[in-house]
Amino acid sequence: MKRILLSVPHMGGREQIYVREAFATNWLSTVGPNLTAFEREFGALVGLPSVALASGTAALHLALRLVGVGPGDEVFCSTLTFAAAANAIVYQGGMPVFVDSDRATWNLDPDVLSCALRYRVALNRLPKALVVVHLYGQSADMDPILHACAQYGIAVIEDAAEAVGTLYRGKPAGTLGDIGAYSFNGNKIITTTGGGMLVSRNQAWVDKARFWSQQARDPGLAYEHSELGYNYRMSNVLAGVGRGQLEALDLRVQQRRAIAFRYRDAFADLPGISLMPQASFGVHTNWLSCFLIKEEHFGCSRDVLIRVLDQANVESRPVWKPMHLQRLYAGCECYGGEIAADLFRRGICLPSSSSLSREDQLYVINQVRAAGNAKPLLEFEMEPEAIA
Ligand SMILES: *Cc1c(COP(=O)(O)O)cnc(C)c1O
Repeated sequence: MKRILLSVPHMGGREQIYVREAFATNWLSTVGPNLTAFEREFGALVGLPSVALASGTAALHLALRLVGVGPGDEVFCSTLTFAAAANAIVYQGGMPVFVDSDRATWNLDPDVLSCALRYRVALNRLPKALVVVHLYGQSADMDPILHACAQYGIAVIEDAAEAVGTLYRGKPAGTLGDIGAYSFNGNKIITTTGGGMLVSRNQAWVDKARFWSQQARDPGLAYEHSELGYNYRMSNVLAGVGRGQLEALDLRVQQRRAIAFRYRDAFADLPGISLMPQASFGVHTNWLSCFLIKEEHFGCSRDVLIRVLDQANVESRPVWKPMHLQRLYAGCECYGGEIAADLFRRGICLPSSSSLSREDQLYVINQVRAAGNAKPLLEFEMEPEAIA
């Protein structure tokens, strides 16, 4: 029996044309026309200069170096996130300081941030930068976050790894702070199999990131280096995959949203299970369909639900484990943390692939309904054009 996975790659159709072009012209390296075009096309989408990199993590690392984070510097960071965001701080010798989520977005709580910064300014210990994460396709509430950071001159890096296609007040998430980092990992809404993008209004920073990503080789033939570099550039072959994926992005956003809302509607009569809140300030792509379980109402715990689904060959996952609860970051400070801990304990991500078929989603829905002691749905209302 086949297994229904959480989030699988979904090719748009034209990826292989661009990849074939790379082979036909022998641009099988970290330079070439696909790279230039992918950066131009992504840059047009977000409206900012862009540089294509080997991963989202590489983009975060370069972003932290660009804003001047170095050994001993403290960097505020959303606690509810994937480890890559915090790890990149440590790559630069920085010290992460974690900040709790709010219930309305699951993202960094602007009030907790303001409070923490007021406290830190009194101690004369302001952080060097903030890494704010946009989780599961929903933007953090950026206006108050940017306002608080601007007051104290703190650089804002947006971890928009999960937020390709996400909008905040009409603008792409990842373009609101000083630097944005996107991911094209295999599980994300669009993929290059592995890859990332760094964007910034500051063209000099984008150029510097491109330079560092190619081992910081000084101009000329003689392998001269005056700065430390990395091998972080994206390959021209994978940029070809990215070009094809980008053409399908709008459709993928529609499909992921349709999947989330179909789950929501199919669980509307069940107590104790609710879709991740959809903040009114933007477009939540629902990259993953996340739900919160209230055991006493739903009938079983989140952990039991994951196990029941697993036995039915359905992959589901807990929401990210907050960084302040990780052994790796046990020594780090955290402002608040109870909300993130609760979201981790009760949150579940359901299969959300944009290629998820109507039949497979109905199957998942009925496994969840059975776990909640509800009658199966035989059919469900849906807009057929939403699943291409
Ligand atoms: C996926 C992800 C990353 C890392 O991106 P990679 O391309 O896998 O390096 C960073 N932050 C968050 C929140 C992510 O989900």
